[in-house]
Amino acid sequence: MLRLISLSVLFGLALPAATLPPEADQRLSREIFKEMIEAKSGFTTGSTTPIAEAVAQRLKAAGFPASDIFVGGAIPRKANLVVRYRGAGARKPILLLAHIDVVEAKREDWSLDPFQLTEKDGYFYGRGSSDDKAQAAIWIANLIRYKREGFKPDRDLIVALTADEEGGGPYNGVEWLLKNHRDWIDADFCLNEGGNGESENGKKIANELMASEKTYTDFRLEVHNAGGHSSLPVPDNAIYRLAAALGRIAKFAFPVKTDEVTEAYFTQLAKIDKGPNVADLAKVGAGDRAAMERIAAANPSWNSMLRTTCVATQLEGGHAKNALPQLAAANINCRILPGESVQSVQDTLQKVIADSQVSIKVEPDVSAPPSPLRPDLLKAMDRANDSLWPGVPTIPVLSTGATDGRFLRNAGIPTYGVRGIFIDRNDYRAHGRDERVRVQSFYEGQTFLYDLVKTLSSAQ
Ligand SMILES: [Zn+2]
Repeated sequence: MLRLISLSVLFGLALPAATLPPEADQRLSREIFKEMIEAKSGFTTGSTTPIAEAVAQRLKAAGFPASDIFVGGAIPRKANLVVRYRGAGARKPILLLAHIDVVEAKREDWSLDPFQLTEKDGYFYGRGSSDDKAQAAIWIANLIRYKREGFKPDRDLIVALTADEEGGGPYNGVEWLLKNHRDWIDADFCLNEGGNGESENGKKIANELMASEKTYTDFRLEVHNAGGHSSLPVPDNAIYRLAAALGRIAKFAFPVKTDEVTEAYFTQLAKIDKGPNVADLAKVGAGDRAAMERIAAANPSWNSMLRTTCVATQLEGGHAKNALPQLAAANINCRILPGESVQSVQDTLQKVIADSQVSIKVEPDVSAPPSPLRPDLLKAMDRANDSLWPGVPTIPVLSTGATDGRFLRNAGIPTYGVRGIFIDRNDYRAHGRDERVRVQSFYEGQTFLYDLVKTLSSAQ
């Protein structure tokens, strides 16, 4: 999501050994990772249950009492796993979340088997290797390591591995847990997917903390008309009316604005960016609207972080080549800034369209407030960054996509996307072909999350 023009932070080639977990823990996380990838948990055809069960077995073998482990879900093939690592109870727990379903993958579309873990040329390949089984495997491996090391957190650590994040629907594990067993996952805050380390050709630039998400919403525009014979055209034509409405939407832009998260993003970006926009980036961080307009015009990602966007994505209309159209319809896909309501966007679209014969139907989705940028979390993250990758800053981000974090934010559990797994900005393959993660980045992410969670659950 980030577009950083140049690097200010250079790294030596040799990494200190401390960035990698002990060898036994590398073997463990790799083994869990492999097991997860090779269990086919495709969103539509697969099952998450074998993964949940295998993890439960591992945890029991590592000494977790059965009473602290739960496996279950909305239907038998969509099980979730929840495990509680007991702490001193001085503070509310931390929830560590990852989803264990994946986007479908066909063998013929890939250059290697998507449901085998393949280690090749310094990468782990496999469906879910990046989204989101790396984090799932790491949470479990780290929990087992804490146990073995006798770590006594000052609060409970809860790991939840959940079903059906991809595509959502009635079996979504987070929604199901919130509705049926809120007490099992209730927490001070949650760490989840959605924030990555960003690198370029392996060089680390910034470590993201994703604190808010835009709301995905589709609006369907429809124009109905009596129609008739195309040899007898009349001025009132469904296709022309819709086209005119779309033309007005094309020329419209929602106002630019920032909030706590995007202000922090642009402020941090201004510190590490060396490109031509650096002065404007700093001004955006300080709330300068004219600078926001210039920055939005400079880059589609920045534009999307600074305003609600709505764009036509599908068209249909007419029923015969020789008939006046009785229906013309379009889909308008909107990505709404946190804090703006779906209703207010619909009202704006209606005003822009300015034609009462164009109806708007909304397919609602869940919107959620941003999570506050907690000083304790930022401090812990900076500390982990500094010890692993000195000079790499934390950068708070607004995601233009969506995760299960929105359900938790709405339930009053602030949720942050943070993984410390670095992905090259031009190598983002989640949901795509030959999905992969750098072997080194996987193990470094394991160490980063180990450190981060330990800091957050130790008396300060
Ligand atoms: Zn995901």
